[in-house]
Amino acid sequence: MEAVKGTAYDYIIAGAGAAGLSLALRLSHPDFSNRRILLIDRSAKTENDRTWCFWEDGDGLFDSVCKRQWSQLDFFGPNTARQLDLSGYRYKMLRGPDFYRFALDQISACSHIEWCQAEIYHTGHGETGAEVHTSAGSFSARWVFSSLLENDVLKSAQQGHFLWQHFLGWEIQTDQAVFNPNCPVFMDFRTPQRDGTCFVYVLPYSSNYALVEYTVFSAEVWPTYAYEDGLRSYLKSHLQLGSWQVGHVEEGKIPMSSAVFPVRRGHVVFLGTAGGQTKGSTGYTFSNIQRHSDAIAALLRQARPPIVTPDFRRQRYHLYDNTLLSVLCLGDYSGAELFERLFTRNPARRMLRFLDEAAHFGEELQVMNSVPRRLFARRFMQEWFSRRD
Ligand SMILES: Cc1cc2nc3c(=O)[nH]c(=O)nc-3n(C[C@H](O)[C@H](O)[C@H](O)COP(=O)(O)OP(=O)(O)OC[C@H]3O[C@@H](n4cnc5c(N)ncnc54)[C@H](O)[C@@H]3O)c2cc1C
Repeated sequence: MEAVKGTAYDYIIAGAGAAGLSLALRLSHPDFSNRRILLIDRSAKTENDRTWCFWEDGDGLFDSVCKRQWSQLDFFGPNTARQLDLSGYRYKMLRGPDFYRFALDQISACSHIEWCQAEIYHTGHGETGAEVHTSAGSFSARWVFSSLLENDVLKSAQQGHFLWQHFLGWEIQTDQAVFNPNCPVFMDFRTPQRDGTCFVYVLPYSSNYALVEYTVFSAEVWPTYAYEDGLRSYLKSHLQLGSWQVGHVEEGKIPMSSAVFPVRRGHVVFLGTAGGQTKGSTGYTFSNIQRHSDAIAALLRQARPPIVTPDFRRQRYHLYDNTLLSVLCLGDYSGAELFERLFTRNPARRMLRFLDEAAHFGEELQVMNSVPRRLFARRFMQEWFSRRD
């Protein structure tokens, strides 16, 4: 359905990426059929701009469109190799265009959600509502949900501990069968650790087709040729490949920050990376977005303000994330060796529960026991006290 200029909506979703579409999917439920909802994005959302990986215990909302799912992962530290048995978890691969199509098909079948393809210039908020000014006109609503990462928010995120997680990946076709289609490479740190923490991951579609991505945690992003050199050298030395054909290329950067992102500005509620859903220590965002969307929909169902405030557990994990990020930023300890300790001294399930912020306190202590204790205790205390300044 087309948007009507000047009309007041119940909710406007500004930005139809991972977070905007995930929330719109929840609001496509018949419980919300008496609300008027507008979804706005500059893009038609048909592009192949990213591939998400995330893990879930068993079945999930996007299983029908996940390209692949695995129950084990390979991990290579600088000194140790390990196959990680996920014990019930499944590691899932979801391509951007498959997710966008799945979400937009479901949303377009709902007459209460309207779509507007336009450039958003500005969102403004008042006492009882908010406005979105776009190239297609201005729209108002009781609540605006925005996943637009505004410059001032990004700038303040860069004030604390901050790294970019930046990467470039090639989908490659090989003549020989070199990939194990039943087991992706989660992290391979057998790469030069220059200018930050560097690793490669491999997501196999088949034994001779895979997405191989070179990833770096560092203060500055690299020029394209640097990732390409890294990929070439990895393919030759670790997969013993002489030649390959490059298909689709994926690149991007994700902010890893210790900052507390604003949850709202008046009646504008922030979603996705802009709403602090990116985990500061790893860059994983997709699962947090799903949990955040569920929580917002639950509040709207109860006619309560859709503001999800971080609970005590979230605050505690934020402190853990900041401690790890500070160690990486300050260069106290090699990132490669740190992740090696975490993934070789803990069962994979414990680590995935910890990264999902779902571990119980005993498991949290076991994870903490696997990192250099004195260093982490010192950084933890610094983070703790800096929150109170
Ligand atoms: C290449 C890549 C791979 C990633 N892989 C993973 C992964 O494997 N696992 C994981 O957990 N996380 C991953 N992430 C991190 C995170 O999950 C994604 O960035 C995710 O898309 C964030 O969702 P979002 O809705 O906040 O932002 P986006 O998905 O970027 O959505 C923002 C939307 O706003 C629109 N927009 C922006 N500005 C305007 C404007 N002015 N006017 C109109 N529309 C506008 C954009 O077109 C876009 O559709 C990845 C990120 C990237 C970049």
